[in-house]
Amino acid sequence: MTTTLVNTDGRIWSTTHSGFVFHAFRLDADGKPVALCRKNVRPRCYTTSHDGWSTAEFADSTVGGRCERCVAKLDELTADAAPADEDEPLPQAVQDAAEGEFVVLPDADKDGRTLVWRDRDHAGVIDDEGPTMTRGRYAVWSPRAARRDGVVGFFASVDEAAEAIKSLWAPRAVQPTGNTPTCRDRAHRPSWRVVVRRANYSAFNGGRRTPSLYSLLRCGTCGGTWRTKAAYVDETPDAA
Ligand SMILES: [Zn+2]
Ligand SMILES: [Zn+2]
Repeated sequence: MTTTLVNTDGRIWSTTHSGFVFHAFRLDADGKPVALCRKNVRPRCYTTSHDGWSTAEFADSTVGGRCERCVAKLDELTADAAPADEDEPLPQAVQDAAEGEFVVLPDADKDGRTLVWRDRDHAGVIDDEGPTMTRGRYAVWSPRAARRDGVVGFFASVDEAAEAIKSLWAPRAVQPTGNTPTCRDRAHRPSWRVVVRRANYSAFNGGRRTPSLYSLLRCGTCGGTWRTKAAYVDETPDAA
């Protein structure tokens, strides 16, 4: 039996009508939210009517904190899921991938989920939350996310979402500090690639894609990384 949590992005925590403690909620057979610790614990109406689900991070920052039994149940769920993953062979494309190469594949086990692999490990998870999500239907998590809850951001397409995950591995992608200099060698130009085209993924806005005049480029020869709004960006191919 699989347990379906109320949200896939970690926003599964809510208080009840009568307490300050946050419980974790799953959906029962009727699609109604019930706490992981006890079936008769229901979220307060505000949570369900306003999509007011909270992250563990938020719950921990409140007076009530998280229900210990719900935390334990959630840990069990995660532990149960892990060994099953190990038994399954990695997808062939993941096994064949070169070191540092990203592989973007639909998850064979879950509809609407796309996995981004790197070095035989999950670099990120992209979940299709449906066309009604105005914030961007594709929710992205990555172990490299700047946020503690792993959320990278919400995107309009799988491609954009995958790009956001890859940019987390780009050298100093979100902090152009000048440590990785602009490539000034014209001979390297064929190996220039656009890592993030006319946008940035700032840690300061939750990793959300923000349109920008500038693009992030990388030189495949000398490793130089720089942002530019120069016209040659249009003729420079995207990074694989
Ligand atoms: Zn609980
Ligand atoms: Zn160069």
